[in-house]
Amino acid sequence: MTKVAFIGLGRMGHGMAGRYLDAGFTVSVWNRSKAKAEDLIARGARWAPSPADAADGADAVVTMVADDAASRTVWLGKEGAAATMKPGTFAIECSTVSYQHALDLSRELRGRGFVYVDSPVTGLPDAAASGKLTLLVGADPADLDKARPYLVPLSSTIRHFGAVGTGTVYKLINNLMGAIQIAGIAEGLAIAEQAGLDMKLVLEAVETGVAASPQVIRHSKRMVERNFAGATFTAALRQKDAAYAVALAESLLSAPPIMGRAAMQSYDRAKAYAPDDDEGKMIEIVSRPK
Ligand code: NAP
Repeated sequence: MTKVAFIGLGRMGHGMAGRYLDAGFTVSVWNRSKAKAEDLIARGARWAPSPADAADGADAVVTMVADDAASRTVWLGKEGAAATMKPGTFAIECSTVSYQHALDLSRELRGRGFVYVDSPVTGLPDAAASGKLTLLVGADPADLDKARPYLVPLSSTIRHFGAVGTGTVYKLINNLMGAIQIAGIAEGLAIAEQAGLDMKLVLEAVETGVAASPQVIRHSKRMVERNFAGATFTAALRQKDAAYAVALAESLLSAPPIMGRAAMQSYDRAKAYAPDDDEGKMIEIVSRPK
């Protein structure tokens, strides 16, 4: 049976690992904190004491961790997956990492004979658990074709942007544009609140007006209601994505990325205020009256 090692069982990774079990793969799992693996173990996953142990004998290793530092640790650390992977194994990085990290990691893993697929994702944790993510792939076309059996259980759409790193470029611009929108909504709604407008009416106007987008609609409702239950994406993760995107912009553009930097600063504040809460909670800082 085809063997997958899945590393990183947070909000997203937990559901993604479950998809491989549902699809009949033999699955070994590792997470920094074991508690998140318990129900997957009950469903048939093998608990591995390290990423290296999880990857031993796997046909594909898939990772979904927080950031560059976590990615480096789980792939290349002393007990990282690369220590036991055999040449030809698929190395599928789904975490949102920086562009430079995607290139460096790919060079390192390809140098060891593994098949690297850059595959960050869009979609919330419910899409991860139901196999409806969109995968943003950067890979050699032949590598992508061979890797498809490991990507299909996770996704409803696979978008191939080009060579390794291009999937990460798209993911970073997507999340930077999202950061700008969300920071903008918080300020707009805060102004309306302090000016004493009927927020039910404002919400209705926003949702049906030209500024509406799926992102705006989702966050404006939660912000107006101050309902941040069931956080799907945290301030810390959005700040990380904005920072990676701004670094990429600064490496490519001669004009300073003014909008991106402003959104990043908004998220610096949101992260300092409530790093592990829903990213929309930033309105609590923005809306404080003068
Ligand atoms: P999360 O719930 O915070 O999970 C983060 C995962 O990374 C956990 O498994 C955590 O382990 C692990 N981790 C963090 N630091 C580590 C380290 N130093 N060494 C080893 N493992 C470490 O985050 P998430 O929402 O699942 O997001 C995971 C990735 O997907 C991120 O790159 C995020 O940007 C991206 N993403 C998220 C969403 C979303 O809607 N949430 C959507 C698209 C993409 P512990 O469990 O032990 O803390």
